[in-house]
Amino acid sequence: MFDLQHRTVLVTGGSKGIGRGIASVFVRAGADVAIAARSAGDIDACVAALDGLGPGKVLGVVADVSDRAACDAMAATVVDAFGGLDVLCANAGIFPDAPLATMTPEQLNEIFAVNVNGTFFSVQACLDALIASGSGRVILTSSITGPITGFPGWSHYGATKAAQLGFMRTAAIELAKHKVTVNAVLPGNIMSEGMVEMGEEYINGMARSIPMGALGEPEDIGYLAAFLASREAGYLTGQAIAVDGGQVLPESLEAVGG
Ligand code: NAP
Repeated sequence: MFDLQHRTVLVTGGSKGIGRGIASVFVRAGADVAIAARSAGDIDACVAALDGLGPGKVLGVVADVSDRAACDAMAATVVDAFGGLDVLCANAGIFPDAPLATMTPEQLNEIFAVNVNGTFFSVQACLDALIASGSGRVILTSSITGPITGFPGWSHYGATKAAQLGFMRTAAIELAKHKVTVNAVLPGNIMSEGMVEMGEEYINGMARSIPMGALGEPEDIGYLAAFLASREAGYLTGQAIAVDGGQVLPESLEAVGG
């Protein structure tokens, strides 16, 4: 059951945080795993840490997902190295905050370029290989923010994460005939490098609002991604699944005893 050995996987934004957690789960499950990001130094450090944790190959690729040509080159490199691609985890994303009253057009364009265009471009670039796989999988990293919840300063971010789900529902229909599934993971608050930059006060406040009492670990997202990537999950498509320690459930802080 759930044998991921010899599955070939590409994780965008795989050098840090949630992407790195996803990649580490796939490596340990025996898959061949490529990670893509912009910083070559971070990629090299991540590849060095993951290499040898499993029997498969680990590959690093420098790519900016907001650039369609870079996504095409990324996909070609992975297909060349692994002989194909079964699973794309379109995870790369940014979450700078910007209050609505002062948000600039440049800030709006930047976040859409990475989180929305980056999702489209990565999937488009990998499409031929995913179809050729015969059991191709697209796993999007969306968020609870936007699809379910809101947070001051993140109206633009929430809009991009909800846009990914709009993309998913039609992509899932278009690709169903090729046996390619498209699903989304909605992380709650996960201890990534990006999260650490939010500061202790933010993190402690979040922890108080989570029924499980703590932020999640990057691998918590990886375990769901691994299931969605399996051949056994082939009939599950177009679904958005929250992994959030129950964060979206309470109606008030009292409900979590806070
Ligand atoms: P992170 O720690 O900041 O890591 C982001 C990763 O994405 C890095 O590898 C980064 O590498 C890469 N990246 C950023 N922009 C890129 C671009 N234009 N092209 C290619 N790679 C790019 O972030 P994270 O917290 O793990 O978040 C990852 C995903 O999870 C995002 O989509 C985010 O919206 C989502 N998410 C996170 C949380 C959370 O609590 N952490 C909650 C909900 C959803 P480079 O900078 O080198 O490119």
